[in-house]
Amino acid sequence: MTDSDTPRSGDKKPKKNGVVKKRQNNEPETPAAAEAAALPNGPSAVDDDSHAARRSSISRPSRDLRDEPPAKRRRRNRHRRSREAQAKVDEGKPKAPTEADSLSNRSESPFIDFDGLSRPSRGTRERVGESKEQAALRLDRMKGAVTTLLECIGENPDRPGILDTPKRYAEAMLWFTKGYQENVRDIVNGAIFQEGHNELIIVKDIEVFSMCEHHMVPFTGKMHIGYIPNNAVIGLSKLPRIAEMFARRLQIQERLTKEVANAIFEVLQPQGVAVVMESSHLCMVMRGVEKTSATTITSCVLGCFERREKTRNEFLSLVGVNRR
Ligand SMILES: [Zn+2]
Repeated sequence: MTDSDTPRSGDKKPKKNGVVKKRQNNEPETPAAAEAAALPNGPSAVDDDSHAARRSSISRPSRDLRDEPPAKRRRRNRHRRSREAQAKVDEGKPKAPTEADSLSNRSESPFIDFDGLSRPSRGTRERVGESKEQAALRLDRMKGAVTTLLECIGENPDRPGILDTPKRYAEAMLWFTKGYQENVRDIVNGAIFQEGHNELIIVKDIEVFSMCEHHMVPFTGKMHIGYIPNNAVIGLSKLPRIAEMFARRLQIQERLTKEVANAIFEVLQPQGVAVVMESSHLCMVMRGVEKTSATTITSCVLGCFERREKTRNEFLSLVGVNRR
């Protein structure tokens, strides 16, 4: 392996704004990214077989427009966002960005929303703030839906063995998706320490259980997270917990990988973050193509991992992904 960086990285300092790419004109930089951008719903608008698709090399960064690190987006959208912030104030929303802890500024990133939800969708905010009565109502509606499912597959919902299945399934489903009710600020909880440490840190083999958003069946696997601090380090247990938060939502593996990387990048402002995930999708294993041993590998590299091949390769060889 050589020491030669990719030409585009130039001599940029490993700052948070160092992830500057030549994408100012919204031009996808690789044919794959162009293809992804051309799809109506971005890279997630793919069919089932795409779970098997892999990039030719995981040691090359694969970026699409949504990968753009928050720092740059913040600059570019400064004016638009200040207008939006004003609009929010005008709406009378209690969103004063004056909280006193180290993560005080409310993030505009789609990856971290300190108000509780990233990618909030219809109904998730209700779920966070619901009362006991509303929670009971939610559970009842879910139980009704599961009873309908049981009837539709030809079961008898009154059969003693499955009498309580609707309740059990509804509660399990709420558990599988509990990440909708969590947020990065509560998880990190101030556990960022100024250590002056600037060497590679890896937490590998983090078990991940998530739900495919296309079929609502599980995909499970392992995630490896590495970062190079910019003096500040994060409590080690926080990395698996951030992964867990994003995994406990309806996901696709590609997005899960990116969300974890971007959340760490934003909350810690390190020199770089690298996340690799290998997992097996039950929607591939139990149905469809029925490829029982297929593993899907996704990666997201930010900052110095993206700029420096040597750093990236050090991470990949330490987590043992590129030895095959
Ligand atoms: Zn699926």
